[in-house]
Amino acid sequence: MFNKEDYKILRENMVEVQLKTRGIKDEKLLEVMGQIPRHLFVSEQQRSCAYEDFPLPIGEGQTISQPYMVALMTELLRLKEHEKVLEIGTGSGYQTAVLSKTAKEVYTVEKIESLALKAEEMFKELGYQNIKVKVGDGSEGWSEYAPYNGIIVTAGSPKIPEPLIKQLSENGRIVIPIGGPFSQDLILGEKIKGELITKTICGCTFVPLIGKHGWDK
Ligand code: SAH
Repeated sequence: MFNKEDYKILRENMVEVQLKTRGIKDEKLLEVMGQIPRHLFVSEQQRSCAYEDFPLPIGEGQTISQPYMVALMTELLRLKEHEKVLEIGTGSGYQTAVLSKTAKEVYTVEKIESLALKAEEMFKELGYQNIKVKVGDGSEGWSEYAPYNGIIVTAGSPKIPEPLIKQLSENGRIVIPIGGPFSQDLILGEKIKGELITKTICGCTFVPLIGKHGWDK
């Protein structure tokens, strides 16, 4: 069993070896990921692996993303402290926690109720107060609080869901894995003069986005 100090050392090591050496430069983001207790977002059996360089199962057939992927996607969003971000696929809530420390307000949608509830409990326990969680089909976005300066989708989709493009503000950024059910390209889109300009960042592997504007099942 590791104690708090051990986890701190593992976390600092994760930031140095997995994030900095691979080119993550955002100082604030590196600081945030050096502080958030990622091990609390996985089951007790997985805790000792929480800071390793791979995704981990979180139950219900879903996974918590690899730390580097969380860092890369967050950096691509270029969030400012006063901005609003929408996340689709709360999962463990770890990515949500990183967003909550880099933006003003975080809205997150998760399809599986048990995961959403567990994540919400952890946000309360850790005192994150700028996160709103909804259970539902995130491929439809969350129109009530739109527009968003950033949208991050942590599940793979065959195409960029139209409602998400609509709910992105002018100069807003969206990061989303697009492709087949087993592997995708990480796409960065930016809304410029009402039009979404996209570019491909790298290959990636996410669980499928299941919903009206994603996969059927
Ligand atoms: N960011 C999360 C990733 C979890 S995996 C983490 O690091 O823990 C992706 C999540 O997307 C899963 O929890 C899955 O249930 C959820 N998901 C899939 N389709 C969805 C949809 N249409 N709306 C909301 N969530 C969805």
